[in-house]
Amino acid sequence: MKPIPVNEPLLNGNENKYLFECIETGWISSEGPFVKQFEEQFAASVGCKYGIAVCNGSVALDAAVAALGIGSGDEVILPTFTIISCAAAIVRAGAVPVVVDCDPHTWNMDVNQIEDKITARTKAIMVVHIYGLPVDMDQVSDLADKYGLHIIEDAAEMHGQTYKGRPCGSLGTISTFSFYPNKHITTGEGGMLLTNDEKLAERCRSLRNLCFQPQKRFVHEELGWNMRMTNLQAAIGVAQLERLDEFVARKRRMGQIYTELLANIPDVQLPLPRATYATNIYWVYGLVLKDNVAFDAQEAMQYLAAHKIGTRPFFWCMHEQPVFRKMGLFEEESCPVAENIARRGFYIPSGVALTDEQMTQVALAVKDILK
Ligand SMILES: *Cc1c(COP(=O)(O)O)cnc(C)c1O
Repeated sequence: MKPIPVNEPLLNGNENKYLFECIETGWISSEGPFVKQFEEQFAASVGCKYGIAVCNGSVALDAAVAALGIGSGDEVILPTFTIISCAAAIVRAGAVPVVVDCDPHTWNMDVNQIEDKITARTKAIMVVHIYGLPVDMDQVSDLADKYGLHIIEDAAEMHGQTYKGRPCGSLGTISTFSFYPNKHITTGEGGMLLTNDEKLAERCRSLRNLCFQPQKRFVHEELGWNMRMTNLQAAIGVAQLERLDEFVARKRRMGQIYTELLANIPDVQLPLPRATYATNIYWVYGLVLKDNVAFDAQEAMQYLAAHKIGTRPFFWCMHEQPVFRKMGLFEEESCPVAENIARRGFYIPSGVALTDEQMTQVALAVKDILK
């Protein structure tokens, strides 16, 4: 059997053509025309006014936190079950990350636990839509209104997803996306900030470009970063965006296929096909081993690796990260749901290039471990 990678993107649209155009015209830096085109088209696809393309989804979070003026003494509430980039952006800004546990069914932050964590120092709620279902946003928005908080929406896994019919990425003060190759659409490396706030957009553009000033270019009032996206990346992005609807439909179909193939295994929890507010987009297809299973995700992944099937573990909780514990953060924290799925969850091959036949092979191997 040929190895089945955990992810493989599809690059067989106009990627070649647009990349060729970059080379032909000599526009390869961030000054090239595809960057603007990608920003405008992607922002429009999410229904936002301003798009600011950056070099990855992690720095997009850094820029979002900085653009909102979050810093020393401020607190930001976020899910403990997420990627390090979220908490890192908060910590690097000198602010304090405050975590909440997740819902055992959707794996998203438990919105009922947010209000208890709000203090006079809270500046923002960073919501992260996990694996394919959005966070239940209405309650978050109500809290943000009630306490005057910003919402930073990490929509890195949500291209093409909606919440009650509204596009994910349009639900907060500012949102961020990633275009890493395992996301629904890719630019190799890449990210984007979206907002409807013109001033915030302007701040992001400045932070992305070292805070150069228009008049006195090399005189700096603030510290920024070089977070620019190249024209080459944006060219791929424009080509990928043309196929977003197709990719999303395929991902949803793939989720259905896996769910049918794995339906009769009692010892594993599958992703929810839908919530009341959204249909799963299956960014990745996650599995959580139930409590009665004698081994954990690590062992299951080793077995699948021996059968040449690529997997990834679930996120590791922010409050259990050695790097943060060494800083004295999260000392008394306990989030039992997230701690459990971090140990018993993993995802199986989910890339858009995966074939139905490969999915059947993966499902057979998963059944084999759990028999
Ligand atoms: C992928 C991802 C990121 C980081 O994006 P990169 O482009 O890999 O830096 C941030 N947040 C979430 C939720 C992600 O899934």
